[in-house]
Amino acid sequence: MADAAKRHGAHFRFKEEIVAILKSESRVLGVRLASGEELTADVVVNVAGPWSGALNKMAGVGSDFTVEIAPMRQEVHHVDAPPGMESGPVIGDLDVGVYMRSTPGGGFLVGGTEPECDDMQWIENPDQANMSRTQDLYDAQVTRAARRFPDLKVPPVAKGIAGVYDVSSDWTPIYDRSELDGFYLAIGTSGNQFKNAPGAGLIMAKLIDYVEGGGDHDTHPLVVTGSHTGLPIDLATFSRKRQRNEDSSGTVMG
Ligand SMILES: Cc1cc2nc3c(=O)[nH]c(=O)nc-3n(C[C@H](O)[C@H](O)[C@H](O)COP(=O)(O)OP(=O)(O)OC[C@H]3O[C@@H](n4cnc5c(N)ncnc54)[C@H](O)[C@@H]3O)c2cc1C
Repeated sequence: MADAAKRHGAHFRFKEEIVAILKSESRVLGVRLASGEELTADVVVNVAGPWSGALNKMAGVGSDFTVEIAPMRQEVHHVDAPPGMESGPVIGDLDVGVYMRSTPGGGFLVGGTEPECDDMQWIENPDQANMSRTQDLYDAQVTRAARRFPDLKVPPVAKGIAGVYDVSSDWTPIYDRSELDGFYLAIGTSGNQFKNAPGAGLIMAKLIDYVEGGGDHDTHPLVVTGSHTGLPIDLATFSRKRQRNEDSSGTVMG
């Protein structure tokens, strides 16, 4: 994806931190980096993941959100796949409280689906999250997976990773404009938008063209047609001002 973006003129600046959003009274003007360098831009898109709340604060946006976002710590564990398991889709099992997916080379990933018995690990500052897996959560999650797959072995030593989700209150992303003209939002990805990234990029590009061309997305939300499916995607679903999605499972499964 990065190569494709470069072919279309994207330029990456790694190891640079945005410390301020430049703006006039009503419109974004660019960003300031920690080095002091200022980059001017007609449009700025907040894609800061678990740090998206901090970027919104810099831009002074969020007062009209009906959906809240907050960082949440998570762990995903890695074991050998149970015998006979073939590669296949992700399995979300809300009864035992885990999702599972086989990986190339006979591995098996096990993550949590926020069961009531586990405390949700909301965190203030993603930079201070414990990024090491823990034995307790490994034991709990992999043992739960073994209830569904009784042949799954639960080795005594934990393997896996820890990370931070950018969770919205209905576990649905926000793909939208903000109240500051030119400042857009692709945030609240709720642990499930890596695979959707190319589609998210396409709908953000169409949304930005629509709004910058004078469209009022808040009153007349853009409907995009999927280029492969031909199906309509009503972007009101991802509005910062939407009513909470009552059909959400309230978990990473969306
Ligand atoms: C443990 C774990 C497992 C997951 N598993 C899956 C999965 O199986 N399938 C799936 O589809 N999704 C999965 N996800 C979710 C997926 O990773 C996210 O939806 C996706 O990464 C969101 O992409 P993003 O580019 O919006 O944000 P991110 O990938 O979070 O990137 C945000 C970037 O912004 C940068 N940034 C933040 N603040 C600043 C600043 N001030 N200045 C400059 N840069 C800044 C950060 O350094 C970071 O590079 C998982 C997430 C976690 C944590």
